[in-house]
Amino acid sequence: GPSLQLCDLAALALRQSLEVPSRLLMGPGPSNAHPRVLAAQALPLLGHMHPHFFKIMDEIQGGLRYLFQTDSPYTLCISGTGHAGMEAVIANLLEPGDKIVVANNGIWGERVADMAGRFRAEVVQLRAPAGKTFSTGELKAALEEHKPAALFLVQGESSTGAHQALGDGLGAACRAAGALLIVDTVASLGGVPFLGDAWGVDAAYTGSQKCLSAPPGAAPLFLGPRAIEKLRGRGTKPATYNLDLNLIGDYWGWFGKRSYHHTGMVSMWYAMREALAIAGDEGLEAMWARHSQAHRDLWEGLRALGLEPFVEKDADRLITVNTIKVPPGIDFAALTAHAMANFSVEISGGLGPTAGKVWRVGLMGANATPASVQVVLAAFRAGLAAQGWKGA
Ligand code: PMP
Repeated sequence: GPSLQLCDLAALALRQSLEVPSRLLMGPGPSNAHPRVLAAQALPLLGHMHPHFFKIMDEIQGGLRYLFQTDSPYTLCISGTGHAGMEAVIANLLEPGDKIVVANNGIWGERVADMAGRFRAEVVQLRAPAGKTFSTGELKAALEEHKPAALFLVQGESSTGAHQALGDGLGAACRAAGALLIVDTVASLGGVPFLGDAWGVDAAYTGSQKCLSAPPGAAPLFLGPRAIEKLRGRGTKPATYNLDLNLIGDYWGWFGKRSYHHTGMVSMWYAMREALAIAGDEGLEAMWARHSQAHRDLWEGLRALGLEPFVEKDADRLITVNTIKVPPGIDFAALTAHAMANFSVEISGGLGPTAGKVWRVGLMGANATPASVQVVLAAFRAGLAAQGWKGA
C-alpha cells in the first residue's frame, strides 16, 4: 500500500488512550477543580438558545451577584479566560481618547495599560514597586490630578503577592471625580472579601480557575449602573466584535430580549453553575475564613523552615497567592522540579518583576485546605534539604 506520511503517524500516536497524571496544583492557577464541577461538565449538551439553558444562565447570573456582592442585574460570564474579561471591560468602558489611570504594581497593571493603549485610550500609569500597594490618599490625588474616565486596580496582584485595599472611600472618590472604578479580581474573588456595591466598584472581572475551583475558560464579570450607562451611551462601537458587551449582554438577557451573539460554552456554564452552587453552600464568609486559615498555616510552616515573605507589610500580603523569597544560594527551579518529581505538587517560580526572586504558592478554592498546605510544606522541607539548606 501507499507509504505512511508523518501526519499519518501522528494519528497513530493518538490511539494510545489519553493519560493525565494527577497533580496537586498549588501554583498561582489553575488550581484543582472540585470533583462536582468536573462531573457537571460531563452532562449532556443543550442548545445554547434553549429555554432550559437560558434558565441555567439566569441561575449563574444570580450566583455571580452573590459572589461579587452586588445587586446589579448586569452579570455574565465571558467565554474565555481572565484576559478575555480584562479585555472586555477595557474595550467596552473606554472610548478612544478617554483617559484611564492604571495602578501598576505588577504584570496585570502592565497588561491593562498595554490593552487600553491598543483601544486608543489615553493611559496614565501610577507605579508602585513590586510587593507594594497604593494608598487611598495617592489614588485620590491621582483622580484629582488626571480627572480620568476610569481608575484600574488589581485586588490580588498574583505576580507579586500584593493585596490592594479597596474600601476606605475610594469608590465615593471615583464617583465624585466622574471616574469608573474597575477592579481585577481574577486571583482573589472568593478567597478574600470583595464587596462590589458597598465599595462602589463599577466593574470587576474574575476567572473560573482560581478560587472558584472550576477549569479555566470562563471570565465572570459584573457592571454596575454607572458602567452600564457608559456602555449604553457610547458614541462609538467597541473595537471588538467578539467582546462587545452590548451584544454579549443581549445573549445573557441584560436588555430584555435575547439574541445570538456566539455559541455559549455549554459545558463550561454547567461547570460555573456547579462552582457557584458550591460557593453558595459553603458561604462567602466561610470561604474567606478557610483561605485565611490556610494562609496562616502555610506561613507558620514556612517561617519554621526559615523562609520569609516577599511582601513586607502584613496588610499588603495576598492570602490566595503567596510569594516566598528565594534565599541566597538556593536554586528555585531545582526546588520546584523536586516538588513535582517527589510530591506531584506544583509550586511556581516568580513572574515579571518577581521572576527568579520568589516562589509562588496558591491557596485557592478546593486547594485551600490544611492537607494541601501540609503537602506544600513537606515539599519545601525536602526540597531545601536536598540543596543542603540549614535554615536562616
Ligand atoms: N489577572 C490576574 C490577577 C491573574 O492572576 C491572572 C491569571 N494568572 C489574569 C489576570 C489572567 O487570567 P488568565 O490567565 O485566566 O487569562
